[in-house]
Amino acid sequence: MLTLLKDLRRLRRQLDLPAPDHARSLAVRHVDAGSCNGCEHELTLASGPHYDLARFGFAVVASPRHADVLLVTGTVTTRMHAPLLAAYNAMPEPRRVVAFGDCALGCGVLGLASELAGPVEDVLPVDLRVPGCPPTPAAIAAALVELVG
Ligand code: SF4
Repeated sequence: MLTLLKDLRRLRRQLDLPAPDHARSLAVRHVDAGSCNGCEHELTLASGPHYDLARFGFAVVASPRHADVLLVTGTVTTRMHAPLLAAYNAMPEPRRVVAFGDCALGCGVLGLASELAGPVEDVLPVDLRVPGCPPTPAAIAAALVELVG
């Protein structure tokens, strides 16, 4: 718990730095491109009262038109290929893509079955890779802070 509090204080200090692109806040659109839902559980935890990422200026938004960041979980299935591209194309510039979790990075348990379009970087330009199966809420916070500079 003490380590987490120290991490959060460090993140708060980092957020006080100027961020030219995103002005110290990020609107995040999450797309499940083929996840087992393990990554989603961690995302839900990160948004809950214990970690409360909202206090650092991060908000999960329902529409890609309002988003700065597209956070993708899971290996991209063929069925989710087109919807994922549509979400990305609807986002305003500047936009960033986070590949979240080992499946999104292409090293997940599913491998490369014929029903899969591949890892996120085969479909979209990935700005940030967050490894883990699943990544922890602390890793989520660190990744988003890296994006705001
Ligand atoms: S990285 Fe792990 S938790 Fe996340 S979708 Fe893949 S198998 Fe599930």
